[in-house]
This record gives sequence, structure tokens and C-alpha cells, in this order.
Amino acid sequence: MHAEILSIGTELLLGEITDTNAQYISSRLRDIGVNVYRRITVGDNPGRLLSAFEDSIQRADVVIATGGLGPTDDDVTARCLALALKRNLSFDENAWDSMRKLFIERRWTSTGSDRKQAYIIDGGFFIPNHVGTAPGQGIMIDGKLALLLPGPPSEMKPMFENYVIPLIREHFPSLAPIHYVNLNIAGLGEARVAEALADLLGCPNPTVAPYAGAGQVRLRIAAHGCDKGEALAMISKVEKEVRRRLGHHVYGKNEETLEMALGTLLGRIGLTLAVAESVTGGLICHRLTEVPGSSKYFKMGMVAYSPKVKIANLGVPPEVVYRDQSVNEEAAGSMAESVRLLAGTDLGLATTGFAGPEGGTRDEPLGTVYIGLSHKKAGISIHKLIYPSSRPRAKAYAAQRALYVLYRFLVEHYGKRR
Ligand code: ATP
Repeated sequence: MHAEILSIGTELLLGEITDTNAQYISSRLRDIGVNVYRRITVGDNPGRLLSAFEDSIQRADVVIATGGLGPTDDDVTARCLALALKRNLSFDENAWDSMRKLFIERRWTSTGSDRKQAYIIDGGFFIPNHVGTAPGQGIMIDGKLALLLPGPPSEMKPMFENYVIPLIREHFPSLAPIHYVNLNIAGLGEARVAEALADLLGCPNPTVAPYAGAGQVRLRIAAHGCDKGEALAMISKVEKEVRRRLGHHVYGKNEETLEMALGTLLGRIGLTLAVAESVTGGLICHRLTEVPGSSKYFKMGMVAYSPKVKIANLGVPPEVVYRDQSVNEEAAGSMAESVRLLAGTDLGLATTGFAGPEGGTRDEPLGTVYIGLSHKKAGISIHKLIYPSSRPRAKAYAAQRALYVLYRFLVEHYGKRR
């Protein structure tokens, strides 16, 4: 049993929008045990869309298309699927009623063309849209399921969760869902993780696969083909082994971010933090404050960008500020210490570096970043990294590394116990 996903819209082909629908649908189908064999992107061209539908329906058991369900002339999705199935479209009172309810509820005025969206393929059914006007629709034909959903993700996702997943489960009851956990790893590159887990990466069940991100690796441990209890037991055994091998590099699980893990640690230990950022331009403060309750431990952030501000507001000595444009160990250390004293916190964290695309000096090349960490008792420590990349990536990487430096310090000095 396998599926194909069609993403419909010329703006997708022009690169004007990113196809997040296909990504979302793929990952949710994977979760319920449906293999996706193909993802196809087609513009609003009736001829090409018709042939894409004909091909996909012939090959796959489930075909899910998003986009092109609106009221305008270039919204041709339903008509093309009907043609591919050699069926007609008929006006559906139930679909129209559900649309009208939404119009009344939201006090929207209906235009005559809205009725076009209430045409459903003969023998099919409509899928209510509680967020926008375009209803979805589906049809079961020769044991195959074809489903049409609107393009906007805010409309597509609830329809997918509330109607499509139950429908697929009902029509294909023997699906074996995949159970998985993701472990989040920092301070080690993908190659190092793969090396440390080489024997586990080759296992067929559970499978273990690393995915690299900016300054972190996500390790997915997935078990399939067994009941939930058995799958979770298999996953847990591998997870323990991964944690044993990678130690504190595994900072979190599933949706847990590094800033969340840090928040938990800082909260447990009872330490407070202030941050002075240059190269990361506020990214660290932004990430720290994404965590609800962060005001308990995060007390102050300063983006000290210009040399004058570093001297006047953080008391960094002028000769340090003007050496290598403040990209040096002393500047990072002094910024961390000063912001800690200024805010009266236990910890101070600071960054200074060259994010590019220009800059760098003879001694400190482009991509150099110094991270300073000051602790009221342990003193100052400095960490250097060189990561020449695009400006956004270099900044994101530096912020991630700075958070990891702090995380690692806390684990080493206070332990990881939760
Ligand atoms: P509407 O009635 O809102 O027009 P529709 O089903 O006709 O719904 P489209 O016109 O194809 O949808 O797309 C509307 C918007 O939905 C796009 O401009 C885009 O913002 C978003 N969208 C469409 N397809 C995708 C996709 N595959 N991934 C992410 N967003 C998408």
C-alpha cells in the first residue's frame, strides 16, 4: 500500500512559495504506516494536471492533492480529477451548506463564484473545511482513495488530521504505524555521530538515522511492524545505548530544543543568566525567551554591536575593542563578565565574530566567532569556532554553539539530573 502526493499551483513551480504541504503530508503518512513513493508538483495547467492524476491513480493506492480548489478559473483541480476518473462534477448541497455556515459565522459576503467550490465528483464525498471556504473532497474508486485538499496549510492541516487520517485508517485497516523518537544532539557533527553509532545505523529494525541541522544533529530511532508496546521497548533499548555512547551531547528528545533543555537545567540549579551579543545580533536572547517561564533565569540581554557601545556600556577596554574589530578572546571574555556584573546574574554569555559576507582580518578569518562564558565562581572561559557560511547560517550556527557552550558548562559543573 503506497501513496503519491500532488502539490498543485504555478507559484510552487516558480519558486514563489515553498511546498510545506507535501512535507507535512509525507511525515504524517509515514507516522501511520503509509509509504509515500512519489511527490509531484504541477502548475495550474489542466492538460498536465490531468495526466498527472491519471498516472498517479494508476500507480498508487492513495493519491492526495493540495491546492487549486478555489473559486477562480485557474483552480482546476476538481475538474481534472473528475476527468481522470471519467466522472462528472455535481453540485453538492451538503458542501454548499457547510460553506454557507462559515460565511454566516464569519460575516463574509459570498460572491456567485463561490458555488463552484461546492461541486463534488459523482460518487465522491466532501470534506468540511472549518477554517476557509474551499471544501475538500474525496472518492474511493476500485479500492483506491483520491483526496483533494485546499492549498493554505492552515486549512489543509486540520482537514488532514480530522478527516483524512481516520479515512485512510478506515479503508486500509492493516496499516502498521511506525513508532519513533527523535534525539537531539549538539556539539558533534553528523559524521562523528555516524562514526560513534556505525553498528546501530545498519540495523533494519529499529532503524537509526541521523539528520544534520545548523549546529545540531537529529537522530531518529524508528520501529515498525510491531505493536506499540513492543516497538517502544525496542526503541528504548536503542535510545539507552545511544545516550550511553554520546553522553551529554544528547540534550533533548523530540520537540525539545536546546533552549528548553537549558531552561530546565537553569531552573533546577537555580542560576540566572545575562547575555551580550555582537555577531549573533539578538538571536540568543530570542531563543532563550521563546521558552515560557524564561524570566525566572534570563535577566538581561544586550546587543552591543558598535565599538563605542562595547566600550561605553560594557566597559571593554578600547585596545581590545579595536583589535581585530573586537573579534578576539579578550573582547568575548570581557563582554561576558561585564554583562554578568551589570545584570547581577550568576552567568554571563557573549558572542563576537565575523558573520560575513565580508570582513575578517589576517589573524581572524571570516566565520571566526568567539564565545565568552563567565560564571561567578568558575571565572571566564572562551570558546572559538570558525564557520564560514552565509550570514544567516553563520549567525544561527554561532547562536546554537553559544547555547551549547552554556549547556555543556552546566552539565559538567552541576550534572544533568532532571
Ligand atoms: P484558496 O481558496 O485559498 O485559493 P486553493 O486550494 O485554491 O485555496 P491555492 O490557490 O492553490 O489553494 O493556494 C492558496 C495558497 O495556499 C497559496 O498562495 C499558498 O500560500 C498556499 N499553498 C498552496 N499550496 C501550498 C503548498 N503545497 N505548500 C504550502 N503552501 C501552499
